[in-house]
Amino acid sequence: MIVTTSELFRHAYGKYALGAYNINNLEQTVGLFRGNLGKVKSNDDPTNPAVSAPFIIQISRGARSYSDKRFLEAMIRTAEAVFPDAIFAVHLDHGTEETCYDAIDSGFYSSVMIDASHEPFEKNIEITRRVVDRAHAKGVVVEAELGQLGGVEEDVQGSVCLTDPGQAAEFIEKTGCDSLAVAIGTSHGAYKFTGTQGLRMDRLAEIQKAVPKNFPLVMHGSSSVPKEWVDRINAAGGKIKNASGVPEEQYLPAAKLGICKINIDTDGRLVWCATLREVFRDKPEDFDLRTSGKVFMANYAEYIAHKNKMLGSAGMLESVRALLTGRK
Ligand SMILES: [Zn+2]
Repeated sequence: MIVTTSELFRHAYGKYALGAYNINNLEQTVGLFRGNLGKVKSNDDPTNPAVSAPFIIQISRGARSYSDKRFLEAMIRTAEAVFPDAIFAVHLDHGTEETCYDAIDSGFYSSVMIDASHEPFEKNIEITRRVVDRAHAKGVVVEAELGQLGGVEEDVQGSVCLTDPGQAAEFIEKTGCDSLAVAIGTSHGAYKFTGTQGLRMDRLAEIQKAVPKNFPLVMHGSSSVPKEWVDRINAAGGKIKNASGVPEEQYLPAAKLGICKINIDTDGRLVWCATLREVFRDKPEDFDLRTSGKVFMANYAEYIAHKNKMLGSAGMLESVRALLTGRK
């Protein structure tokens, strides 16, 4: 069942965060659905309510152009039929105005992100407001961004780029956006927190205080970059040095301060990379793409299930379903 992120946030606010996972291909899609339903080994395993979680599928512009955006839609619609127990939102990650309109008009996405955070404050408001008007007319919800995250190649970010609490309140009021991505020290990629930077929970608390009550906040660039997976990659011939991420132990404290959605992309790539490297290393005579594909789907499902536990969303699926179906 495809729902909006807002419906999921209402259940999660202050208690846990939804995992927002980026997908690009079939194996990620299957692994993601299995993981969120506690079906680690196969699609036919029974759904495990103790670990099942509602979730958010994120589609980036890069994913849409990797093959063709229509493949992603077809795969997700098929997954919905193969896994009828799943409850999830389909979200456009880091949209431009043009991509947002395409996603809104598709009738498939339930949520879009307009990222005009690189624009001056007033311009960001103006662009976000236009997208919100068009999205709300079609029942689609909007995530916007204020402040700037660090990127893979960027250096340590100064506090100037962190989201300003007063501006956040003004931005929400003027744009009518449904959730807000805030910059509180995270960065995209596998090399977060170089130098002395860390997650700024103090800033997050100030933002929560300034914005309307129960307003959902979003954390980007929040993969944990687990040492275990980086080590496995390097042990199988990879060269990833000094990678670091957001400690998983910080997910729940952040959720308590209003973070409802935590974006995880890099970790999925690490699981993919480690799996393929290990399979090709251990079975040099094997050239069947399904060998590594099967191992990846199981590894990814297991990783998603673990992540949901850390986010606090594991085991929440049935109470979300009760809330949604009771309301209709
Ligand atoms: Zn992001």
